[in-house]
Amino acid sequence: MIPTTDSQIEKMKYVNGDTMPALGLGTWKSKPGEVKNAVYTAIKKGYRHIDCADIYGNQNEVGEGIERAIDQGICRREDLWITSKLWNSDHQKDMVEKALKRILHDLRLEYLDLFLVHWPVALKVGVGLPESPEDFFSLDEVPLTETWGAMAQCREKGLTHHIGVSNFNQNQLEELIKVGPKPEMNQIELHPYLQQTELLEFCKKNNILVTAYSPLGSSDRPQQMKKDGEPVLYTNEVIKEIASKHGVSAFHILIAWALNRGTAVIPKSVTPDHIKSNLEATQIDLDQDDMQKIAKLDHEYRFVDGGFWAMDGSPYSIKDIWG
Ligand code: NDP
Repeated sequence: MIPTTDSQIEKMKYVNGDTMPALGLGTWKSKPGEVKNAVYTAIKKGYRHIDCADIYGNQNEVGEGIERAIDQGICRREDLWITSKLWNSDHQKDMVEKALKRILHDLRLEYLDLFLVHWPVALKVGVGLPESPEDFFSLDEVPLTETWGAMAQCREKGLTHHIGVSNFNQNQLEELIKVGPKPEMNQIELHPYLQQTELLEFCKKNNILVTAYSPLGSSDRPQQMKKDGEPVLYTNEVIKEIASKHGVSAFHILIAWALNRGTAVIPKSVTPDHIKSNLEATQIDLDQDDMQKIAKLDHEYRFVDGGFWAMDGSPYSIKDIWG
């Protein structure tokens, strides 16, 4: 049942004909000491898509995992799809290319397949996570269109083959579409509790591909990002019932649901058994009845709620971010 090559993993097609495997490996929170092996194991098992970001602080080790797989002849660079993301403190136009070159150096790569603007939020140079309102630039000071122009130049120079965004709402996408070029991807939180059907439809209509992040409910994220009594996806009775009908796990159903909706999906794991098992989700066909039952679970619940951008005195509010 487990695909041993990537040939059984569905592909998403970009406007220029390039294809990206719809299932990838997430790497947020993957500790430097664990992520090299996770990436290597994933590639060995058949993954060809790795999702990274500068702010995850582990791209050096992700790069080592990729290098090891290539050195051992498991795949070639051109067989892989590597995504990374521009951090918020690099939004000014003269900083974008420098940030991308640093990312390429860390990952030991000559180009990215996909480079995303991580958040529609700009921070002062050198800020990781904001601690005070002084750490922010407003979008009047550093407009998203300024950052986007510099992203497009990186693509023209061949430093990345594709460009897109993450955590953008429809208004922000429209702003970029107006100035062009059109974003090729929007990576957003998507799972049965947050289905974002309207945004998904808008992206489909505009030929913007969508990747689902935190598809399993991001249970290992930092405690300060969690709310008391928050819902758990993989113990949901409907998900468990559908899993038992198909003879698979709840995790498989969550991944298969994202694939069934035509999105890419990037579950994070550093546990070899999970990495291997998550691949099996590509072989599950959910039927209409399953999809209708899952559709009813939506209650617009965000595990990554963006609260860290909306501290007192910040130029951003939760409403600006999610639209
Ligand atoms: P996920 O929803 O992927 O959940 C990760 C958790 O699930 C980990 O604790 C992992 O543990 C566990 N897990 C994975 N597979 C299994 C399994 N088969 N059985 C049991 N447990 C399992 O969380 P993330 O928030 O990390 O989202 C995935 C990825 O999306 C990120 O890593 C990142 O790449 C991207 N992302 C992007 C964001 C953005 O702003 N653009 C924001 C958030 C995420 P273990 O490691 O032990 O397997």
